[in-house]
Amino acid sequence: MPRVAFVAMSGFRIREAEMLALGMTLPGLAARAGAIGSLPSLGLLTLAGLTPPDWDATWHECNGDVRAMAQRISSERPTLVAISALTASVLDAYALADMLREEGLQVVMGGLHVSTCEAEAIAHCDAVVLGEGENVWHQVLHDAQSGRLQPTYRAAAPANLAHAPIPRWELLSGRERPRYTLQTARGCPLACEFCGASRLLGPFREKPAAQVAAELAAITAQQPRACIELADDNTFAGKRDAKELLNVMRASGVRWFTECDWRIGERPDVLERLAESGCVQVLVGVETLALGADAYGGLGAKRAELTRVMDALQRVQDAGVAVIGCFVVGGDQDDESSIHALGEWLIQSPLADVQITVQTLFPGTGLRAKLERAGRLLPDRSWESCTLFDVGYQPSRMTVEQLERAFRNVVAMVHAPSEHARRLEIRQRIWGRRYAEPR
Ligand code: SF4
Repeated sequence: MPRVAFVAMSGFRIREAEMLALGMTLPGLAARAGAIGSLPSLGLLTLAGLTPPDWDATWHECNGDVRAMAQRISSERPTLVAISALTASVLDAYALADMLREEGLQVVMGGLHVSTCEAEAIAHCDAVVLGEGENVWHQVLHDAQSGRLQPTYRAAAPANLAHAPIPRWELLSGRERPRYTLQTARGCPLACEFCGASRLLGPFREKPAAQVAAELAAITAQQPRACIELADDNTFAGKRDAKELLNVMRASGVRWFTECDWRIGERPDVLERLAESGCVQVLVGVETLALGADAYGGLGAKRAELTRVMDALQRVQDAGVAVIGCFVVGGDQDDESSIHALGEWLIQSPLADVQITVQTLFPGTGLRAKLERAGRLLPDRSWESCTLFDVGYQPSRMTVEQLERAFRNVVAMVHAPSEHARRLEIRQRIWGRRYAEPR
């Protein structure tokens, strides 16, 4: 029987030693890093769901020990190895692919990074899948079985989410998961300059509620009271009926968490049902307002906009759902004092939790292209700097070292144990006695 080995490059990575040491000691940050690092790769599980029953499928997660992983996979002698990696782990993925090919195995790679860096990736594997994998996966398997993989596969049309396969959750058996993942929408109708996820894999699409219900049933069959992190870029950004989606979530009995934008705080149709649907937390990007001191200390339009956003987020919390405010530092308007001002502002903010990252130049984004044209990419920092916690470019109004220091300082300020305790109290107030602290 032919066999495909699925390999997810997992784990959470930080390049800069001081930031890594700091991150691992701060309570909220370490917990969030652990949760992100252990999320299963939904893309590969979905392809596993499309793999015909006359193929054997095995599952592997590689969190850094590439040589041991290569030996383990090689001992299985799979017909094909399918690797998916994020930008921060792609160099490890290339090293693994190189070792597997030296063992005579066929390797295909896919995912956001590979889709935007085709020439780089094909030097390390037999084939790359550009964009979504669903509509080309059967062809990849067929060609691998006959030993005739083509160098590239690109779907002729976007995948129809109404016919999405059920991810093969049972492949994870024996590996307890703090969170499962499920996608209810792909992409985002907005187009922020720094965003690598919004449209790179195709147009924005929403999954019908009936399909979401079927996938929820598959997860709850594995774990009845599962905690789910939706793998959506912006769950409520489209035009679908939010009520229908929220009713499906409620009926499943799961607790869930997602990413969306602040406008849900101005939507009664969402607010009325969000908490009762099992939604515990939403992560909301406030990043575009955070780029510059004006947003915190100045007056005028930006300040008015920030007030409107914070009022909307307070309404979400008043509805029983905690908000993790997501802030990005290091934009062209930032300097050390504006980053410090952000920290001062955050330690007084009513947000239930906070995520601060440094501006990151993901491949395929307009922001990366702009800074590359301006000669501002740091030559000694490669993809392993795309962690959200490492600086990979020359800032506009400070040195690299100043940005790194200001970032470490604001992270330490906002994730101090006293702040962690303060925000925990806010969360407990929001949830009342209904929920335990999500892992
Ligand atoms: S709103 Fe969020 S998901 Fe949408 S483009 Fe902007 S950053 Fe990306």
